[in-house]
Amino acid sequence: TSVEKKYKRILLKLSGEALTGSERFGIDPKILDQMALEIGQLVGIGVQIGLVVGGGNLFRGAALQAAGLDRVTGDHMGMLATVMNALALRDALERSNIATQVMSSIPMSGVVDHYDRRKAIRALSNGDVVIFCAGTGNPMFTTDSAACLRGIEVEAEVVLKATKVDGVYSADPMKDPDAVRYDRLTYDEVLDRKLEVMDLTAICLCRDHRIPLRVFEMDKAGALLNIVRGGDDGTLIE
Ligand code: UDP
Repeated sequence: TSVEKKYKRILLKLSGEALTGSERFGIDPKILDQMALEIGQLVGIGVQIGLVVGGGNLFRGAALQAAGLDRVTGDHMGMLATVMNALALRDALERSNIATQVMSSIPMSGVVDHYDRRKAIRALSNGDVVIFCAGTGNPMFTTDSAACLRGIEVEAEVVLKATKVDGVYSADPMKDPDAVRYDRLTYDEVLDRKLEVMDLTAICLCRDHRIPLRVFEMDKAGALLNIVRGGDDGTLIE
């Protein structure tokens, strides 16, 4: 179809926490279906979508370490959690007839494919949604860094980070009534003002490889579609 769109290939980062929805723990199937609907709209206008999913709804290495576990073991558990989320997302996408592949940074033969950059690009070019899971495959990193890394590798035009708030604020808008929202920022402004957008590794990767980053609110219906059509929901960092 010839619907106007700004981006042909995007990398969408979904946090694990977003998948919990109204459940107390784990994965809310209603949220999965909602995400499949939003992603299906993009597929429908020919946008190629790489997805990186987090694991914070299940396990986080830092939290496990605080509870007494070895950090690296905790990070391995966190990365495996992202694989479970990826399987749930694939299931929801395929139930909506959206062709989907899952690629894991940690090989898991018989469950998901191992990440291979060239195969990922080929799948994206075919119009398949590709879900990248198991983060970067290394402890001490986050799935935000994985999103920026994979976005750069597969030559996505933008990294879209879905969050609970509608962009980047000068302070936490839930706690500080004077917090102001930014429409645009440079990477260096994010770094200098210590704004909590993504971890420093992720921000530096995007800056050094000149891939723009947009932070937006996933719960706002239609925001994702609006962005790929050139809308300015959320905050653009470039
Ligand atoms: N993780 C890791 N290396 C990576 C990506 C993730 O060790 O490259 C681990 C880390 O313990 C992290 C957990 O996986 O806490 C879940 O990822 P993240 O916290 O980024 O998930 P999100 O906050 O997006 O749900």
